[in-house]
Amino acid sequence: MSVSILVVDDEPDVADLFRRRFRKELRQGLFVLHFAVSGEAALAVLKTEVEPELMLILSDINMPGMTGFELLSQSKRIWPNLPVAMITAYGDSESRQRALAGGAAAFLTKPIDFVVLKATILALIAGKAVPL
Ligand SMILES: [Mg+2]
Repeated sequence: MSVSILVVDDEPDVADLFRRRFRKELRQGLFVLHFAVSGEAALAVLKTEVEPELMLILSDINMPGMTGFELLSQSKRIWPNLPVAMITAYGDSESRQRALAGGAAAFLTKPIDFVVLKATILALIAGKAVPL
């Protein structure tokens, strides 16, 4: 089974970073990655058919236009069962609380620890709660 993930970040090099750091998982077919450079683009992807079906969103918070919090809120309203994990450079407790209140499934800080991220993804897919 592949875990289909939508990564949302306005930084253009994030896609390359994910492809490089999850090279093995991609080659093994464990992960299938989709990318969007804004919250608006992410919603557009979600409203189309994505194959394989999306199982998880990983979203930046600070983005021009729609913020990650706004994406979280819209996504939760339309797809309440789709887990959304927030990844931010600003790991302050206010952001953490806001993510928690908004229904985020996890809250990770940049620079991304890809070992922790992989464990988080697999735990979320297995339906385990991840400590925020
Ligand atoms: Mg950003």
